[in-house]
Amino acid sequence: MFRKTRLYTPGPTPLLPAAQFAMAAADMHHRTAEFRALYSKVLAQLKLFVGTQNDVILLSSSGTGAMEAAVSNLTSPGDRILVLSAGKFGERWVALAKAFGCQIDLVSAPYGQTFDLAQVSAAIHPDTRAVFMQATETSTAVRHCVQAVAETLSATDTKPLLVVDAITGLGTTHFDVDAWGIDVLIGGSQKAVMIPPGLAYLSVSERAWAAMETSKNPRYYFDLRKERKVAGKGESAYTPAVALIAGLGAALDYIAGQAGGDLVEGRKLLIENAETCAAMTRAGLQKLGFTLFAPTAPSAAATAVAVPEGLDSGAVVKALKARFGAVIANGQGEMQGRIFRIAHLGFFDYMDTIALLGALEFIARDSLNLPIQFGQALAAAQQVFAERVPGEGLTRHCLCGRDTCCRSKSQ
Ligand SMILES: *Cc1c(COP(=O)(O)O)cnc(C)c1O
Repeated sequence: MFRKTRLYTPGPTPLLPAAQFAMAAADMHHRTAEFRALYSKVLAQLKLFVGTQNDVILLSSSGTGAMEAAVSNLTSPGDRILVLSAGKFGERWVALAKAFGCQIDLVSAPYGQTFDLAQVSAAIHPDTRAVFMQATETSTAVRHCVQAVAETLSATDTKPLLVVDAITGLGTTHFDVDAWGIDVLIGGSQKAVMIPPGLAYLSVSERAWAAMETSKNPRYYFDLRKERKVAGKGESAYTPAVALIAGLGAALDYIAGQAGGDLVEGRKLLIENAETCAAMTRAGLQKLGFTLFAPTAPSAAATAVAVPEGLDSGAVVKALKARFGAVIANGQGEMQGRIFRIAHLGFFDYMDTIALLGALEFIARDSLNLPIQFGQALAAAQQVFAERVPGEGLTRHCLCGRDTCCRSKSQ
């Protein structure tokens, strides 16, 4: 059999062909009118995609560069900060804050779970300068409730800054950045926006800009104030990743095109799409005897699945690649061997999801010797799809105004 390579990993994710063409054609100098027009257009699109009136700054780095920029620009050595950590990316906030000399308070949740809000509340002190969290913890596939944390912070007298790593949250979760008061929200290119790694972007509130004026940690390449100054003129401070920026513009055009040219509506469809693929995957995998690793707060970015006792999740990863060319992710760190992860963010659809579940039925039967019948996972996933996406031309929420849509009932 031929095996087409297909990525089902939560970063990098599959590339959008239109973005690949735009990248290949981006033979352009960055100090020209042509580039300035492109850059200004992409920065304006990013504001719509993030859903904010705040400035959005684009950096030529992987996502971690923007995480570092948030820490270095907003803190001084000795500052008290709070990290909410429930996995490998939460632990990255701790490492970054340590590297920049912050005094760290930590609220953690076990891998596969989200935080106890009462603990979060209790960990905010009058001198807490900022709170750092993930929207979705990609290592465990958990979704945290950013809105609840934001509301908790708003209710305090001192209102610490809220910094959210939404690198896999964007395009898979609804945020109201300005209404909730998210000071910094971070995204990355190799996730929901369907292009290769190498760009990070972050929205920055006026409060955060003001805080940068008094923070004393060193910064040079990632000095956000420098980027803000020149972004207004359609420039970046240093040589930007021109081709990736052209690709990003094409990808955001594509997302807008899914909703007749409206990027805000397109972003909603992208989220809805990820939610549907995730719900199909969860239903299918449970039918095969796998256990969801994050049953109480599953993300739409990725699904993490625990393999039955005595089996190695690496065997599933290997068999899928060898037999079907499909690349999924093993667990990170201590979770390696215990879980595997399947992505839904970005350029995935119904067909991708059904195909992977079909392949997983084979792996479950032939490689893991689980007692399954062909079609079990597929039937469960089809049922979920039928309920969520009732029919051609119908959106899930019709105008009937009921909690459960009348159209989905009549199908
Ligand atoms: C992918 C990812 C990052 C960024 O990692 P890079 O390798 O630096 O791009 C950060 N946080 C989360 C939650 C991620 O999924």
